[in-house]
Amino acid sequence: MASQKKGRVVVVGAGPVGLTAALALLRQDIPVTVVEASTELPTDPRASTFHPPTMKMLESIGIADDLHAMGLEIRKWQYRDRRKGLIAEFDLGVLADLTKYTYRLHCEQWKYARLLLERVRQHPLSEIHQGWRVADVRQDAASAEITAEANGATKVFRGDYVIGADGGRSVVRHGLGVGFEGLTFQERFLVLTTTYNFEPHGFAGTCYCADPEMWCSTFRVPAGGPPGHWRVVFPVAGDAPESEVFREEPCQKLLQSFYARPGERYEIVHKNLYTVHQRIADRFRLGRVFLAGDAAHINNPLGGMGLNFGIHDALNAAEKIGKVWRGEGGDALFDVYDRQRRIVAQEYLLAQTAQNKRDLEERDPAMRAKAYEDWRQSAADPARARKFLMRTAMFDSVRRAQEIQ
Ligand SMILES: Cc1cc2nc3c(=O)[nH]c(=O)nc-3n(C[C@H](O)[C@H](O)[C@H](O)COP(=O)(O)OP(=O)(O)OC[C@H]3O[C@@H](n4cnc5c(N)ncnc54)[C@H](O)[C@@H]3O)c2cc1C
Repeated sequence: MASQKKGRVVVVGAGPVGLTAALALLRQDIPVTVVEASTELPTDPRASTFHPPTMKMLESIGIADDLHAMGLEIRKWQYRDRRKGLIAEFDLGVLADLTKYTYRLHCEQWKYARLLLERVRQHPLSEIHQGWRVADVRQDAASAEITAEANGATKVFRGDYVIGADGGRSVVRHGLGVGFEGLTFQERFLVLTTTYNFEPHGFAGTCYCADPEMWCSTFRVPAGGPPGHWRVVFPVAGDAPESEVFREEPCQKLLQSFYARPGERYEIVHKNLYTVHQRIADRFRLGRVFLAGDAAHINNPLGGMGLNFGIHDALNAAEKIGKVWRGEGGDALFDVYDRQRRIVAQEYLLAQTAQNKRDLEERDPAMRAKAYEDWRQSAADPARARKFLMRTAMFDSVRRAQEIQ
C-alpha cells in the first residue's frame, strides 16, 4: 500500500542538488521526503567550485558561512599554454562592487552534500530514506508518486510534487519519457589528485591549460587542510582500458608532463575517470514532476558550472513550489521554472562549457593565437575583464534567468 504523504514534496536523489532543494523547501516549512539509492553519500572527486552568485544564493538557506568555513577562497584564475606558460590571469576582485564573494570558493562537493544532509536530517519535517532505488514515477491531477525498491521490497512514496534530482541517468526523467538530446565525448576525463603544491611555481588555484595535443586543467581543493590537494584533469582516449589508464607509471608521466620534477615522484592520492557529455532534457517540468541538476542537464566540467547551475535549479524550483504551496501563485509559475532553467541551460551552461573545451583543445594555430590574445587583452583591461568574469563566473546566467518570465 502507498504510504500516503499528502502535503509533502518527494525529492529523488540525495546528491548536492536534491539536498539543496530539500533544505530550501524545509526552510519554508514544507515537509520533504528524500529517497536515495545509496546507503552512503559518495566521496569521489567531482565538483569543487562554487561561483560568487551561488555563494550569495546559499545565504538564503543558511549554508553559505558553513560552506565558506570548509573551503578555500580562490580569487584568481589563469589561462595557460602548456608549453609557453602563463597567458592571462583574471582577478575576481574587479567585481567587488557587485559581490562580497570576490572569489570562487573551492570545496569538495561531497562536503557540501554532507553538510546539507545533516541540516535536512535535523529538520522535524524531513524524512530520509537511504538505500531505496527509485524505479518508477507516476502522477495524476492531485499528486505524484514514485516506486522505490530495496532488498526485494517495494515502497511507494507519494507527495504533492516530485523533484527528480537523481543525476545524469535519471530514472525520473526516463519515467516521464523526456528526451535528453546531446552528445557524449569520445574522450574521457582523467582526474589525478596529488598532494604536491603547485602554488610556489606560479600556478593559481584554478588553471586552464591549452594545448593542441593534450589540454589539461588544475584545481586546488582544501582536502584535510593546508596546503590542500591539487586535482589535475587530462583527456584520455575513450577506448583505453581502465586498468591501463590507472597504471601508476602513465599517471606519473602525465603529471611530469604537466610540471616536470626531475628525479621526483608525485604522490597521487586519487585517480578517477569520467565519461563526459553535453546533454539537456526536453522538458524540465512535466505536471507535478520537476527535473533539476544533472537529471536535467549535463556538461563537461571545464568552467566548474554543472553543480552551480543545478543548485540554481534547486533553489528556483523550491521557491516556485513554495509560492504555489502558500497560494501566492498558480501552476503557471512552474512553466516559468521550465523556461528560466531550460533556456538558460541551453544558451549559457552548455554553450559556455562547450566553448571552454574548444578553446583549450584548439588545433588551428591562428585560432589559438586569437583566443590567447583575447584572454590577454581581457585580463589587462578592467572593463573587459569585468565583462569576461560576469559571464564565466555565472552572473550573466543568473541575470538572464531573471529576465525570463
Ligand atoms: C570531474 C568532475 C568535475 C566537476 N567539477 C565541477 C565543478 O567544479 N563545478 C560544478 O559546478 N560542477 C562540476 N561537476 C559537475 C557536478 O559534479 C555535477 O553537476 C553534480 O554532481 C550534480 O549533482 P546532482 O545532485 O544533480 O547529481 P548527482 O551528484 O549525480 O546526485 C544524484 C543522486 O541521486 C541518486 N540516485 C541516482 N539514481 C537514483 C534512483 N534511481 N533512486 C534514488 N536515488 C538515485 C545518486 O545515488 C546520487 O546520490 C564536475 C563533474 C565531474 C565529473
